[in-house]
Amino acid sequence: MLTSRRRFISAASAVPVLAGFQPAPKADIVALRDSTFDPWIEITAANLRHNVGEIHRRVENRPILAVIKNNGYGLGVANVARVLEPLDAIAGFAVVKLHEAMTLRDAGIRKPVLLMGPFAEGELADLAHRNIMPMVYTAIGAALDRVAARTGRPVPIHVCVDTGLGRDGVPFREASPLIKELAASRSVTFAGIMTTFSEDEGLDKEQLRRFERMTSDLTNAGATLGPRHAASSFAVFQHPDAFLDMVRPGMAIYGIYSESSFRTLGLMDLWPAIALKTRAIYVKQLQPGESAGYEKAYTATKPVWLATLPVGHADGLPRSAANRARVRINGVMYPIVASVSASHCIAEVGDEPAVKTGDIATVFDAQDGSRPDDFGAAANASVYDLIMHLHADLPRRVV
Ligand SMILES: *Cc1c(COP(=O)(O)O)cnc(C)c1O
Repeated sequence: MLTSRRRFISAASAVPVLAGFQPAPKADIVALRDSTFDPWIEITAANLRHNVGEIHRRVENRPILAVIKNNGYGLGVANVARVLEPLDAIAGFAVVKLHEAMTLRDAGIRKPVLLMGPFAEGELADLAHRNIMPMVYTAIGAALDRVAARTGRPVPIHVCVDTGLGRDGVPFREASPLIKELAASRSVTFAGIMTTFSEDEGLDKEQLRRFERMTSDLTNAGATLGPRHAASSFAVFQHPDAFLDMVRPGMAIYGIYSESSFRTLGLMDLWPAIALKTRAIYVKQLQPGESAGYEKAYTATKPVWLATLPVGHADGLPRSAANRARVRINGVMYPIVASVSASHCIAEVGDEPAVKTGDIATVFDAQDGSRPDDFGAAANASVYDLIMHLHADLPRRVV
């Protein structure tokens, strides 16, 4: 019979080796959920600050609109904003989901917040009250005027222009008429104008030409469009021409090279600010021929020690990590074997019981060889998926 997860953990807690084991101190724990064995995420505030400094130097002191969408790339949207807000280099924050924009205000964040995702007209009043700027690419001038009249608060907007990505934004050929129409509405002010690159070398150059031509035509005709911004982490590495008035990176802030080739360019020295850790819950020896994992995913060919770790695909650990990626326990890298199940994975520890229950297993952190980009590459997983798929319920500890 399969032991339930709950019974499994309480059985593990009863083993004598845990006598004297100290749970983590609770004082610095940000999330409500926490326990001794469940996996957790560590956010290194000093590394976030360092990375912002690196980006700021690279972009020659242009302001940074920090992209903290999707739960702050796994770190927690408010956790990241609280660390970054005091930095002069940070002009504001950009998210894609309305509730994240709201969360930032609830958390006391005061710098500008740009909502780069959808909203309904009925939500404009909430944006006005919370001082959240929407990204706009349709003719909503009349609605903006109505909300301004009703709330007494005009809503500044960023216009999004589609120069070739084909995702959202007004098609660049229709941008001028739209902007003129929006500008005719009494309450409308432009706080910025933006586009998003396709991250295709050739098309990016053409997109930049389209964007610059369109914005300079409008500016020459007397329009005040606000800062032009386009550069994600990719362009911060690849396209100095696209730094424009403000940059808009996400991944680089978290200390992760979005492309492995960027790591050796020497342009920015990024330090990972996110770590995923857990504690071994069970260590056992298998005899030759004995198996581990559903459907006998692993079979021992010699006496071997395995450590069970309570982190699985439901937490965001990619299934593809099994038989590819490694975890670090007590400074030693051990392969993840068998398969990744919902709440568990298994590390192969070797001939000796070198790991004991309660030892910390690091899935990734800032150490070379264990960086999120290293783990992602080993697991054959995009590092964007790796950190954005970390379950929002996992406790986050800012250290
Ligand atoms: C996610 C996103 C960014 C940041 O991208 P990174 O690759 O993480 O730097 C910038 N702009 C838009 C519109 C985005 O959706």
